Amino acid sequence: MHIIPHEETKPKRFTMRTTDIVIIGAGPIGIELAAAINQANLEYLHLEAGQIGSTMQWWAPGTKYFSSPERIAIAGVPLIVADQDKATRENYLDYLLAVVGTYQLDIETYTRVTKVEKQPDGFALTTTRSFHGVGGPEELGYTPTQTTETIKAKRIILAIGDMHTPRMLDIPGEDLPHVAHYLGEVHQYANQRVLIVGGKNSAVEAGIRLFRAGAHVTMSYRGNAFDPDRIKYWLYPEIEYLIKKNKIAFIPNSTVESINERAAKLNTGDSIPADFVLLLTGYEQDQSLFHQLGIKLVGEDRKPKLNLKTMETNIPNVYVAGTAVAGSQTRTKVFIETAHIHTDRIVAALQNRVSDATPEDYWLEES
Ligand SMILES: Cc1cc2nc3c(=O)[nH]c(=O)nc-3n(C[C@H](O)[C@H](O)[C@H](O)COP(=O)(O)OP(=O)(O)OC[C@H]3O[C@@H](n4cnc5c(N)ncnc54)[C@H](O)[C@@H]3O)c2cc1C
Repeated sequence: MHIIPHEETKPKRFTMRTTDIVIIGAGPIGIELAAAINQANLEYLHLEAGQIGSTMQWWAPGTKYFSSPERIAIAGVPLIVADQDKATRENYLDYLLAVVGTYQLDIETYTRVTKVEKQPDGFALTTTRSFHGVGGPEELGYTPTQTTETIKAKRIILAIGDMHTPRMLDIPGEDLPHVAHYLGEVHQYANQRVLIVGGKNSAVEAGIRLFRAGAHVTMSYRGNAFDPDRIKYWLYPEIEYLIKKNKIAFIPNSTVESINERAAKLNTGDSIPADFVLLLTGYEQDQSLFHQLGIKLVGEDRKPKLNLKTMETNIPNVYVAGTAVAGSQTRTKVFIETAHIHTDRIVAALQNRVSDATPEDYWLEES
């Protein structure tokens, strides 16, 4: 297993390698694909901008999956959690390393694909050294480094995920140091006045965790109430209870207009004193590789248009897998458990077979 390329295996700068398949992204679905492609003895390279599972790296420590362990287990390797509860991000990052080790997968980490060009005989990919994955707080200050290498490939699989940049509110004060789009370490908020903006799972979960960590929490949401259909069933009664008992202040039908060092001004006229402001209003996909390749993007979420039997895009020999298929999801429908099926379809297509995915699998993905 070479998770981080060693000097002797690292490609020399400005050399040109060629391969049949390049997988971009080593999140759970990229790894699941690599394991299957490896087992099928196909020639491939696997590139990841950060560390393995880098999307999970920016979650707040101790964050638990909402999916049961068996649903997010990949490549047939059991995910066993000590207390049979949901896995934490820490459990899962360890687990991903174990899967990579089990299959002896070569993943070229800290290698970001910055450009993909269609050529008559395949594709040319430009890579740079990158110090974190695509997504997370560090991504906001990302500046590309020098080109490292150009790789030529006949086929490409984009398993790049969908949570690359936060949905910005574009309001004065959004860039202040006490304003964040990521929860981070919960301990920092103890005894602090924290304004949380948002009304979906990440905002609600942050509200509950921060209250328990000793913060004084106010929540601002543009809707008039949290929607029980969009909040996890174990979080909803908890947040309702905390609001009803005035443990958490809730300001419905409100949006933030500006933030200064001491307070946030809402459209309701309220000025909310805040030591920290968390803008947890969702994430957007970096679609630059789709644009460079000429992949058609459709619908409100701008998802890549795909042949669902093969996961191939309108550009022949370019496939998309995992949450990357969903564009910038406004309502989450594609996650790990609904994306396992992509591996089967893509590996079959790479071998000129048709996946025998059942109709139920299709339903699961599109429901
Ligand atoms: C708090 C929270 C809780 C969640 N809980 C669950 C849950 O319980 N169940 C669930 O299924 N999902 C959950 N999710 C969503 C989960 O993160 C995704 O389902 C999962 O990570 C998707 O896997 P993926 O492999 O498709 O993409 P990702 O894990 O996002 O992996 C994509 C990878 O591609 C890399 N990449 C992107 N662009 C490039 C490039 N140009 N060059 C090189 N590498 C690149 C990225 O660095 C990243 O490592 C949760 C998300 C959050 C934020």
